[in-house]
Amino acid sequence: MAGEPQDDCLFCKIAEGHVPATIVRETQTTVAFRDINPQAPTHVLVIPKVHYENAATLAAAEPAIAADVLTEARSVAQDEKLDSYRIVFNTGAGAGQTVFHAHAHVLGGRGLQWPPG
Ligand code: 5GP
Ligand code: ZN
Repeated sequence: MAGEPQDDCLFCKIAEGHVPATIVRETQTTVAFRDINPQAPTHVLVIPKVHYENAATLAAAEPAIAADVLTEARSVAQDEKLDSYRIVFNTGAGAGQTVFHAHAHVLGGRGLQWPPG
C-alpha cells in the first residue's frame, strides 16, 4: 500500500527507530535528524514517517503531510536560530538524490552560493 514502510529503506528504519540517528524534532507525522555527512554547520533532514519516493510523490498523495515536512523545516531553522537557510528536496538521481524516501535538507549556518552546483 502507498506510504507503507519499506524493508530496504534506510529512512523508514530511522523513522521506526531501528537505525540510530541524532533526532532533533519529532511529530506524529515527521522526524528531523542530523545528516551523517553535514554540508553546513546546520544540516538537518526532515522526513515524513510514511514512505514515498520523493517530495513530489508525497505531495501528490499526502499534501497535509508534505505541509508538515515544510512546517518542521521552518521549526528546525528557528531552533537552530538561522536567519537565512535553504530547504532542498533533491528529486531523482540526476539531482543528487541517493535515499529514495522523501526528505527535506535544511542547510544553514554559513553563506550559501546560488545557483547550487
Ligand atoms: P539525498 O542525497 O538523497 O538528497 O540525501 C540523503 C542524505 O542522507 C545525504 O545527505 C546523506 O549524507 C544522508 N545519510 C545517508 N545515510 C545516512 C544515515 O545513516 N544517517 C543519517 N543521519 N544521514 C544519512
Ligand atoms: Zn522509506
